[in-house]
Amino acid sequence: MFDSTEEKVLPVLPLRDIVVFPAMIVPLFVGRKKSVKALEYVMNGDKQILLVTQKTTSENEPTTEDLHSVGVVGNILQMLKLPDGTVKVLVEGGQRQQISKFREANEFTEAVIEDIDDSSEQNEDLEILSRTVMGQFEQYVKLNKKIPPEVIVSVNQIGEPAKMADTIASHLAINLEEKQKLLEISSTSERLEQIFELIEKEIGSLNIEQKVRSRVKKQMEKTQRDYYLNEKAIQKELNEGEGNFDELAELEDKIEKTKLSKEAKEKAEGELKKLRQMSPMSAEATVVRNYLDWILSVPWKKRTRVKKDIKAAEKVLNKDHYGLEKVKERILEYLAVQQRTNKVKGPILCLVGPPGVGKTSLGQSIAKATGRNFVRISLGGVRDESEIRGHRRTYIGAMPGKIIQGMKKAGTSNPLFLLDEIEKLGQDYRGDPSAALLEVLDPEQNDTFNDHYMELDYDLSDVMFICTANSLDMPQPLLDRMEIIRISGYTEDEKLQIVKRHLLKKQRKLAGLKTKEFSISDFSIRHLIRYYTREAGVRNLEREIANLCRKALKDILMTAKSAVKLSPKLVEKYAGVRKYRYGELDEVNRVGVVTGLAYTESGGDILSIESVKMPGKDGKVSMTGNLRDVMKESITVAEMLVKSRAATLGIDYSQLKDQSIHVHVPAGATPKDGPSAGAAMVTSIVSALTDIPVHRDIAMTGEVNLRGYVTAIGGLKEKLLAALRSGIKTVLIPEENEKDLADIPPNVKKGLKIIPVSRIEEVLSHALTDIPQPISADSEQNEEDFSEISSKTAENSEKDVIRH
Ligand code: ADP
Repeated sequence: MFDSTEEKVLPVLPLRDIVVFPAMIVPLFVGRKKSVKALEYVMNGDKQILLVTQKTTSENEPTTEDLHSVGVVGNILQMLKLPDGTVKVLVEGGQRQQISKFREANEFTEAVIEDIDDSSEQNEDLEILSRTVMGQFEQYVKLNKKIPPEVIVSVNQIGEPAKMADTIASHLAINLEEKQKLLEISSTSERLEQIFELIEKEIGSLNIEQKVRSRVKKQMEKTQRDYYLNEKAIQKELNEGEGNFDELAELEDKIEKTKLSKEAKEKAEGELKKLRQMSPMSAEATVVRNYLDWILSVPWKKRTRVKKDIKAAEKVLNKDHYGLEKVKERILEYLAVQQRTNKVKGPILCLVGPPGVGKTSLGQSIAKATGRNFVRISLGGVRDESEIRGHRRTYIGAMPGKIIQGMKKAGTSNPLFLLDEIEKLGQDYRGDPSAALLEVLDPEQNDTFNDHYMELDYDLSDVMFICTANSLDMPQPLLDRMEIIRISGYTEDEKLQIVKRHLLKKQRKLAGLKTKEFSISDFSIRHLIRYYTREAGVRNLEREIANLCRKALKDILMTAKSAVKLSPKLVEKYAGVRKYRYGELDEVNRVGVVTGLAYTESGGDILSIESVKMPGKDGKVSMTGNLRDVMKESITVAEMLVKSRAATLGIDYSQLKDQSIHVHVPAGATPKDGPSAGAAMVTSIVSALTDIPVHRDIAMTGEVNLRGYVTAIGGLKEKLLAALRSGIKTVLIPEENEKDLADIPPNVKKGLKIIPVSRIEEVLSHALTDIPQPISADSEQNEEDFSEISSKTAENSEKDVIRH
């Protein structure tokens, strides 16, 4: 764009509110007609235009007079025509230009220009100067929140002082005039000095701004405090004003009317006084108010009338629960003593048994029978003492412990308080919750139970506590304080009766079914018990019945049926595929496979024990099956016993040198009440070593000692029930447990052949299909050898076998 006389001419783009510096890239919106024309013109050529700032921003049609005389070449990088006729361009500032004159061309203004060259300036001072300016610019950016900190990095990368000066200038928050002045300074050093001065000034004013800001903030805080104090004063006056019915007066009234202990009343009044001094909005006031609420909501002296009619109590217990004669009898004795002594003092009842045998619902019945309110808390997973006894009020969000919370729920001071799953109480570094519980359960000291939150003695001596547990696996001191009543689980017949007399009615009602709409035959109930549940209690059975009721109701509502009569077939349709097998034993007698009986938390269960012999060394025994220590011990004792009397047991000891034995207990992880699988282990190992199969329909329970005697076990009823459920025909039990047979329901004894045994040889002679032949009959250390025993067993089989 040079004319013949070599003068440099460029079309002009007047800028209203910006000064473009060299190397600066900016988007510009152009709307004025002349400017658009100028842009269109240069777009056809070398895309260079002169960017000149207007002297007055407001001028819409600037004449040449209104334009500054220094500008920069603008290189157009991008141009976009917008639908409204305006244009958006992206330009990059080029070299500074001195305008010598303006000329009006056809449609736009042109300027005759000359390059301002500042590149010749190059010296050490300039370097130092630019570094100083940079340092100051950094400080400026830190103070000025509007400039992004990344700018410092990009400016620092510019090596050329001239370019750096221009870039810094473009970032400064100074007015247009000052910017134009900077643009007009051709010498780099002078420009840097000027920038330095400007930044200096800016930093000064930014500091002042900050000072002012913090002063204003302080002022505001003071005003807020004054307001708050004022509010407090007004509140105080209001509270003192007569006839002012507010929250505090209401509290006062409540304290007056509620039956509190003397100590609680004094405390409540003291706290109320404190509350009056506080701002109602403050956090402390909320804490005090909460505390007062607790004092007022816990029952201090509110009682229900305790019913003393033992006969009526018996009726209630019988109406709610089928069977459980012994349990009910024991409960009635307990109530009788209470009635006479007029106190709940005495040992605490603890109902122990598998889930679903009615422990909780017995508790509810006792509450009903004695006219006490019922409240229940679960102790499962409580590990922290403060969960029982509460947190001190200094903790944020502190609350009373479970005992006081339970009392609030009960609403009276003499409820029946059921402590569920007491054996699941944990213990860790946060204190021992069982110690706190001991205090609660101790009649000698529970009249002054002190919760950490309440900080007041609370009298628990009128509360009737009953605990429940699945097993006796709990701290001894806790056990000592309680009277254990075992509930062992139901036979199939008992379950059938429970369903017919209780569960059916209950579930039918819950589903909203009318009596005539839903009926189920005894046989169908048995079908449900056998193939859909495997439990000591009736919890899952109840669930299954609830399911049948729902399905039946749905059928009645969706089809034209007026009633559903459940046959076993329909049970299968409603309840889905069978969940368990019933009474299906192994088809053949197998070597090394023995059925043991275990006593688990959920009742009794059968336990399959398998052994195999294989090539190895010294008859070593290895084991698998996720075994607990007790079970491992049983296996080791069995191994020693077998090895020590190998000859009498028909095992060739010399062959053992090249053999090893592996014992596997598939359900070995099941927790159980002590060891009872020794006899089964020995039988399994002997069977494996002698290759004599074990009767498939025999189960056994009993530990063995090293002398070969079978020792007593626990949970006999549960184990026999499990055996019966699984189709076992004969059960070997330790002779020491024979006396416990008196407690076993007759139909269980009828369904099983129960044989008490005292020595391992007896066990083997009953369990193995063939009698092992002793390797040498004159084994001296065993005074009663196997052949002797087996012949005795054969002779006296009628005496040994107890048939019921
Ligand atoms: P637990 O507390 O022992 O786990 P629950 O008290 O919750 O068992 O009993 C489960 C359900 O079985 C309850 O609906 C209960 O009424 C019922 N139930 C258990 N035993 C009997 C029984 N002997 N007679 C009637 N219903 C029973």
